[in-house]
Amino acid sequence: MAHAMWHSRWAVVWAVTLSLLGGCQRHDLMALTADAATEGNVAKSIEHSEAEWQAKLSPEQYRVCRGKGTEWPFQNAYWNHHGDGVYHCVACGEALFDSKTKFDSGTGWPSFWSPIGRGAVAEGDDKSIAEHPRTELTCCKCGSHLGHVFDDGPRDQTGLRYCVNSTALSFRNRAKAAARPER
Ligand SMILES: [Zn+2]
Repeated sequence: MAHAMWHSRWAVVWAVTLSLLGGCQRHDLMALTADAATEGNVAKSIEHSEAEWQAKLSPEQYRVCRGKGTEWPFQNAYWNHHGDGVYHCVACGEALFDSKTKFDSGTGWPSFWSPIGRGAVAEGDDKSIAEHPRTELTCCKCGSHLGHVFDDGPRDQTGLRYCVNSTALSFRNRAKAAARPER
């Protein structure tokens, strides 16, 4: 009896912790059991050591994705890219943004008014600039830094602007992806 109560209490703690992480609810939290949580099945997360990330990513990708860096505006791959497809996390391959939600923000960075789905990206406080606190975006699956979200996006959509570094993204054309489905 006491054992069961301990489990259910941890299920609640996990659910609250995950909801506080800001959006990584890829699964129905209420359906989670404490056993699933303790076995690490809450969300399919990818973890690498810093040395492994450095080996996997280019120096620029590592600087942006793992070091929370920012690339130059108007001098990146996707700010003016209009292909039809899906933008994936360059570090882990997770689908993050659909080109259907991309818009020209005039900022010089690829901008979207929505992530591809609930649970694709997480939001957190970024107080690195004291007088200008921002909301940081990270990939839910691997935790890589993507960019920031602001509330000056298109009013006829969500009103949000997901401002993302091209360096953190890898575009996959929709027609090509359909012809050669991923395994
Ligand atoms: Zn990722």
